[in-house]
Formats: sequence, C-alpha cells, structure tokens
Amino acid sequence: MSTYDGPGQPLGFLQLCADRRFHRQVMTAFERHGGLAEAHGPAAPMSYWIEATPGGALALGDMTVSCRHALSKGARVMGLAVHGDDCGGYGRWSTTDLEAALLGTMERRASMPAYAGATHLGFMATEQALRVYRVNGRKAELECWYAIGDAACAERRTSGEPLD
Ligand SMILES: [Zn+2]
Repeated sequence: MSTYDGPGQPLGFLQLCADRRFHRQVMTAFERHGGLAEAHGPAAPMSYWIEATPGGALALGDMTVSCRHALSKGARVMGLAVHGDDCGGYGRWSTTDLEAALLGTMERRASMPAYAGATHLGFMATEQALRVYRVNGRKAELECWYAIGDAACAERRTSGEPLD
C-alpha cells in the first residue's frame, strides 16, 4: 500500500481536453480544490486518474471505461474540465456556451446514482482565467477563479498565494 492510496485517502478522476495550453493549470487546481494536495502532498499527482481528449469533459461520456475503473478503485473526487479560445473539440462554441454545458454536465452527473458520495468540480479555462466550480447540493456554483498570465504556467491566484 502506497502513501497515496491508503484507507481514507481521497482519490480522484479528471476528464480534460488534450490541449497543451491548459492541462497543467487544470491539474494543479484540481489537486488543490479536490483536497488531493492537502491529503497527499507531493504525491498528489498520483492520487487521481485522468482521461484527456479534444473537447475535454463534454466530449467524454458520463461513464467511460476509465471513469468506471477509477470509481471501482475508490475515486470520489470528480473533475470535469473544458476550455475556450479555440478548442480542437468545440472550436465553434462560445465560452459562454461551453461554460453552460459544463455546469449542466456537472449537475447531471451529481444526480447519477453511480456517482453517489462523489464531489464534482468543474474547470473552465480560457487564456485569461481559470474558473473553478463545485456542485453544492444540486447546483454548480463558482468557487474561485485564477487569472492566467501571458507566460506559460505563470498563473497566479487573484487573491492569495500562487497556484503553483
Ligand atoms: Zn480543447
């Protein structure tokens, strides 16, 4: 038994777009907001499964093979990520439409019995900001957002410490 999958340790599952601009920021925010960074420290990246495809969470089903596997292994921190600014999967969608679809997907999954007891986090990335949502009760609500700098991985939190 390793330190990152011991009894009671939170495990996660993150679906995101393959786009090279956003995955690192999304993963870092997922580790933080999902409680994985706090629980696992430097081993946080080993505490969750990922599934990436063009279009991110919206292009992946509610119950993929990877998702089923992660759930069976105890994953209960679920992350769904999409992004604007010319996504290869949803290039013609506006950021507003993508964000609405993300929130709807989060709320739908939170109502599915297969996800009983799970935490649902959502991540909407653009070249300007990363917004973090969480399903509270049945509704997806904005929890926090980060401004994104021009330089790669130069993200910073709008208030408080750096994201990375
Ligand atoms: Zn994309």
